[in-house]
Amino acid sequence: MGYAAFLERMGEVNDLLNAKSILNWDARVMMPPGGAETRAKQLATLSVLARDHLVADRTRHLLDEAEAETQGLPPESIERVMCAQVREAIDYHLRIPADLQQRRAELGSIGQDVWAKARAASDFAAFAPILEETVALNREMAEHIGYDAHPYDALMHRFEPGETVATLKPLFQSLRDGLLPLLRRIAEAPPPRIDFLQRPFPKEAQLAFGLKMAAKLGYDLSRGRLDTTVHPFEVSFTRQDVRITTRINENWMPMSLFGCLHEAGHALYEQYADPAFTRTPLATDLIGLYAVNGVSFGAHESQSRLFENHVGRSRAFWEANFGEARAAFPGLLDDIDAEIFWRGVNRVSPGFIRVEADELTYDFHIMLRVDIESALIDGSLRVSELPEAWNAKIREYLGLEVPNDRLGVLQDVHWSSGQIGTFCNYTIGNVMAGQLYGTAVREPSVAAGLAVADYAPLLGWMTGHVHRHGRRHSRDELLVQATGRRLDPAPYVAHLQNKYSEIYGV
Ligand code: ZN
Repeated sequence: MGYAAFLERMGEVNDLLNAKSILNWDARVMMPPGGAETRAKQLATLSVLARDHLVADRTRHLLDEAEAETQGLPPESIERVMCAQVREAIDYHLRIPADLQQRRAELGSIGQDVWAKARAASDFAAFAPILEETVALNREMAEHIGYDAHPYDALMHRFEPGETVATLKPLFQSLRDGLLPLLRRIAEAPPPRIDFLQRPFPKEAQLAFGLKMAAKLGYDLSRGRLDTTVHPFEVSFTRQDVRITTRINENWMPMSLFGCLHEAGHALYEQYADPAFTRTPLATDLIGLYAVNGVSFGAHESQSRLFENHVGRSRAFWEANFGEARAAFPGLLDDIDAEIFWRGVNRVSPGFIRVEADELTYDFHIMLRVDIESALIDGSLRVSELPEAWNAKIREYLGLEVPNDRLGVLQDVHWSSGQIGTFCNYTIGNVMAGQLYGTAVREPSVAAGLAVADYAPLLGWMTGHVHRHGRRHSRDELLVQATGRRLDPAPYVAHLQNKYSEIYGV
């Protein structure tokens, strides 16, 4: 009885966080600009209510009872795992003083506005004071959260539990060693054609085609919908309602299509979680206070990258689906074949902007951010030195001279919302996608399906090894169970080397 009451209590926390997500979705998709100020208050109120509900005396009492009632079960049982996760989350929140939380939330709401103006004017000095304060608050936060070796570890914990500065160092080194020489060779080689991707692709046809391909991968439209936004995203309000957005450029067709496939990959993780976990701690990020089925941001990103890049940008995908693309855009692709199309959507073009980066250069944008953030947090880099440090890394990795801070250090929204420690998950996702995909395609039914545009076997494999488990296992537990190894960059590096050597003939 204690355990059932405890579960119901945790269901309420999940309800509050799902309600918050719905308000967030509405703010980004539907809300007129006038609603922004009151909406920010509504979101803040729900966050506070969810946190207070989680750490309340009543919850702790129910948790004590639930722990007592389930202590005879094995530690890996769902009941014990849930109790342990709730215990850890309560301890986490109680370590962070309420006034610190409050100060960070306030800084976040001022910061967005200051950042937007500073970015528009390409004026780093205007944003620097906010960033100084953000760094100081996050350093303070790290001291309360606790860490063994590096304060940045404490900040990453919320997004990528278990990842540390020490574990990322060799990972990044392998990526640099494996990818930089390839990038240098590609820079000397003639690029594939992309002119046909810049033809006038009608907006409605782009949306319809993107959604059709997403559905083909397994995105269930009876529990989903697609809208357009400035920044594409996926959000779920339980596995029964999982929404995605994309953005359209009428003269650059890959933007909306691969946006759809990327967000659909995220959506599959949410839609195919075990229904028994709905409204439980295994469908709730109780540290980040966010209703989500995926176990870490990196694990989530592995599914978006896998379906976008390993599936959607593969030669097999276009050999099997190019006819549909032609039919979706009458007259626009008649002189193009699957091979030319596949090469075009894989063009490498080093640029300044992370969100526009191609598959091969993306991780360099991430490595530079993680290195800079961890140096800001341990004090080895000062905010005033940031633009110079940023531009030096872009020069070193991509051979480009950053012309202004709008295209450099001011481009990302993350720091303006008070967050530091959120970047590593993109690269973890890429690495994990390579590892999972490399293992899945060894299954004959998966490989056979990919050749004929039947994605059900691949989805079945991912559901069985990843989606179904929700937040029950840690990211590395999932990886070991699915692939026999912890996080390993080798399959990802091999995938990039193979694909781009072939496309560029290098
Ligand atoms: Zn993503």
